[in-house]
Amino acid sequence: MNLEGKQLIGADAVLATGRPIHAINPATGEQMEPAYPGGSNAEVERACELAWQAFDVYRETGLEQRAAFLESVADEIEAIGDDLIERAMAESGLPRARLEGERGRTCGQLRLFARVVRDGEWLDVRIDPALPERQPMPRVDLRQRHIGLGPVAVFGASNFPLAFSVAGGDTASALAAGCPVVIKAHSAHPGTSELVGRAVQRAVHKHELPEGVFSLLFGSGREVGQALVADPRIKAVGFTGSRAGGTALMKTAQNRPEPIPVYAEMSSINPVFLLPEALKARSAALGEAFIGSLTMGAGQFCTNPGLVIAIEGPELDAFVAAAGETVKGAAAQTMLTPGIFEAYESGVSGFSASDKATEVARGQRGEGPNQCQAGLFTAQAADFLADEALQAEIFGSTSLVVKCADLDEVKRVAEHLEGQLTATLQMDDADVDVARQLLPILERRAGRVMANGWPTGVEVCDAMVHGGPYPATSDSRTTSVGTAAIHRFLRPVCYQSLPQALLPEALRDGNPARVSRLVDGKREA
Ligand code: NAP
Repeated sequence: MNLEGKQLIGADAVLATGRPIHAINPATGEQMEPAYPGGSNAEVERACELAWQAFDVYRETGLEQRAAFLESVADEIEAIGDDLIERAMAESGLPRARLEGERGRTCGQLRLFARVVRDGEWLDVRIDPALPERQPMPRVDLRQRHIGLGPVAVFGASNFPLAFSVAGGDTASALAAGCPVVIKAHSAHPGTSELVGRAVQRAVHKHELPEGVFSLLFGSGREVGQALVADPRIKAVGFTGSRAGGTALMKTAQNRPEPIPVYAEMSSINPVFLLPEALKARSAALGEAFIGSLTMGAGQFCTNPGLVIAIEGPELDAFVAAAGETVKGAAAQTMLTPGIFEAYESGVSGFSASDKATEVARGQRGEGPNQCQAGLFTAQAADFLADEALQAEIFGSTSLVVKCADLDEVKRVAEHLEGQLTATLQMDDADVDVARQLLPILERRAGRVMANGWPTGVEVCDAMVHGGPYPATSDSRTTSVGTAAIHRFLRPVCYQSLPQALLPEALRDGNPARVSRLVDGKREA
């Protein structure tokens, strides 16, 4: 594995001179080589200039060429082989099977977006031909399609070093939309980022695209990341991480002379509602399954179930007892970074110190550094509603069970929650009436409402919504997972009375691009 620690700017690899970043192996605490000297304004400037130069050419690439490019990115990532998995394991502490699965997901979503590009539905072509004879006023010729917003800044996430990072969902959807991408690599996995970044560079070269279609910058968020989002040539931002980081970038984007959209996925505690009949029928089984979801990947998922809500009684006691026993057996797992581990410890200490939260059980204590010890706590609904600290996200394997006096209190808790990525109903057929009362509240609060599953595990497909009201995301109108994510980076343009020679191919008479179109109110195949 040949890692150089260089910024990838267009077709070049450049050694920067800023403060170096080293990956830390979270399982051992060891600093890893090579150093990645942080970029400066000069590298941001160059990457943005190249991206801007590339934009007008790249956004007019044919559907087939752009789709084939995305497929080549996937092929090139797979061609890296085991080096990629080994480096990602060392930089993230995540196990091999998880990372192999994540690589499959990453390449799968690139290929899925290739299909989306080929379909051409995303162009959303609408044509209202001229009606010169219409009375009392003639109608002019109007034709609409979508184009990319412009170069997109993407911030790789720490918890998905492949699927939400350099060539992850944000990058795939922006490239599919015809937008060049400039990545701010996550400082936790620079080597993984370089390997994937070089794979994308190779695909850009292979398809003879303008070099500025892709650049990868290393450096601190507060310097390189902020400079990138402030650059006038950047027209949108994709981000996954903390609420503090996401809101800081939203502010920067809003304060620009030309404000731009920020699609930030941030904080969610993913409430699970245990409805009475389900609890009566299978309290112990639910308790065990819940801890399986809570402890998966050391709880470092944005969809981790950090909150359980139910009416108190012997059935809920049985659920808590079963969950507590399962937590006790949960092995400690290495967390992604020392910073995430410290934030987790501080969150759990807050629960332990609170006289409003009761500890049910802790998982096994780890021996090495950065080991996540799972935790389960309970609180009364009135205390939960009164105490903001109990409502905060603890990123990791700790959850809080909120005990409610009755259904009205369950509804009050649901109404009180911040915006969420998911809300889960554990329910039996006899719970339908209760579920029907909760559903309107959950629709307002969450991007995905599910029955009898667990929120961890996000399918990449057409119908998925991985979004939700603030602070789950900065823009609840969209999703960061699934094919609908492409719409974040598109905007409509209407062409009025343009001659055929000036119209883009998809809008010309005879439909030479062979895309689905709405013509005079009728769908044309
Ligand atoms: P983070 O601290 O928000 O960092 C994410 C990225 O944003 C990094 O590249 C970081 O740069 C950059 N950044 C952070 N603050 C910034 C600022 N003020 N201005 C510009 N860029 C900034 O997230 P993290 O390191 O991945 O994890 C920290 C916490 O985020 C976790 O404990 C958890 O609470 C939350 N998190 C949530 C999710 C989710 O899916 N919702 C996923 C991961 C983490 P640097 O390279 O300088 O750090």
